[in-house]
Amino acid sequence: MAYINVNLRAIADNANYLLKLTRESGVEIAAVTKVVCGDPVIVDTVLEMGVKEIGESRLENIARIKKAGLDPRFLLLRLPPEQRFPEVIELADTALVGELGSLRKLKELVDDRGKKTEFIYMVDTGDLREGVMYYDAFEELKEAVSIAGSNLVGIGTNLGCFGGVLAKPEKFDILLDLGRKIERETGTVFTVYSAGNTASLPLIENGMLPEGINHYRLGESIMCGTDVTNNRSVPGVSRDTFTIYGSVLELREKPSVPIGDIGQDAFGRKPVFQDSGIRLKAILDMGEQDVVPSGLTPLFSDCEVIHGSSDHLIVDITDYSGELSVGDSIPFRLSYGALLRAMTSWYVRKEYVV
Ligand SMILES: *Cc1c(COP(=O)(O)O)cnc(C)c1O
Repeated sequence: MAYINVNLRAIADNANYLLKLTRESGVEIAAVTKVVCGDPVIVDTVLEMGVKEIGESRLENIARIKKAGLDPRFLLLRLPPEQRFPEVIELADTALVGELGSLRKLKELVDDRGKKTEFIYMVDTGDLREGVMYYDAFEELKEAVSIAGSNLVGIGTNLGCFGGVLAKPEKFDILLDLGRKIERETGTVFTVYSAGNTASLPLIENGMLPEGINHYRLGESIMCGTDVTNNRSVPGVSRDTFTIYGSVLELREKPSVPIGDIGQDAFGRKPVFQDSGIRLKAILDMGEQDVVPSGLTPLFSDCEVIHGSSDHLIVDITDYSGELSVGDSIPFRLSYGALLRAMTSWYVRKEYVV
C-alpha cells in the first residue's frame, strides 16, 4: 500500500532554523500547516520547537488540531463563505480579511459574542490574489479601520502564490507607507505587518527586509525545504521531510510509444511520447488521486516517472541498477503540490518517524 514517511526530526529542525533566522530580523512566524491538512502530529512537532502560531486555510484543520488537544494561536489564512463566519470567530484568533463586507459581518459577530478575534487586512501588491489593490488601498483601509476599530491589528500581503511575483523591498515598503499614512490620518497604529510567505525569505537572508515588517507566514520552507517561486532549496533547511513509497504491482517490458491513434488521456490531456524503444516499466499503486505525478522525484537513481492516471503510476526503471520485483516499493521526494495531494488522500497511509 502506498504510504508517506513523515520525518518529524527534519520538520522540527526546519522550524527551529527558520524561527531563529526570522527572529534575528524581528519577525514572528506563523507555521502554515495547510499542506499537511493540519496533521496534529506535525503541528505538535513545530509547536515543540517554539512556534506560537499556526496558519491554516481551512476551519476543519483548525478543529482537527484543537480536537487533538493542541492550543496554539490560530491564524486563518482564507475566509470561508459567510455562513461559516460564526465558526471563524469560534476557532481563529486572527483572520486575514480581503473584503470590507466580510470585515463588517465578522466585526458584528465579534461584538455580539464578546470575542477578541483580530483581523489583518490584505493588500494586493501585485500577485493578484487576495486583498485590495495597493493603489486603491488607502481609502479602503480607512474604511476598514472605521469598521473594525482596534480589532484591525495590521495589514498583510502575499506574493508568489498566484502570479509568481517575487518579493522585493519595494513591495513591503508599500505596506509600511500605507500604515504610516493611516496612522497620520486616523491615529490608528497597526502593530502587525504580515509580509511574507516562503517566497519572501530571501529578503531576510540578504538583510534587505524593510524595518517594521514583523510577521511571516511560512509553510513550504518548513514542510518541504523548498521555495518554488524562486526555484530553489531554502538554505539551512532540510528537504528530507517527506518520502512517499509506492508498491510495484506489475513489472513489464513495453514499447515507449502507445500503439494506435492517440486521443486524450483520462484527464483530457494529449500525451506526447518519444520513441526510445522497449523499456522496463513498473506500475505503482498510486495515481492522480494521491499525488501529482510530475511532482515526484524517484529516490532510486535512473528511474523516471512517465505518467499517471487516477490510480496507477508508470515508472521507467530500465536504467535502474538495483533489483526490483513485484511487491517492492519505490521511494520518491514530493513537490509541494504532490505533498498537498498525498496528505489529502486518505488512501495514502501516514507513517511518522522521530
Ligand atoms: C499558504 C499561505 C502561506 C504559506 O505560504 P508558503 O509559500 O507555503 O510559505 C502564507 N500566506 C497565505 C495567505 C497562504 O495562503
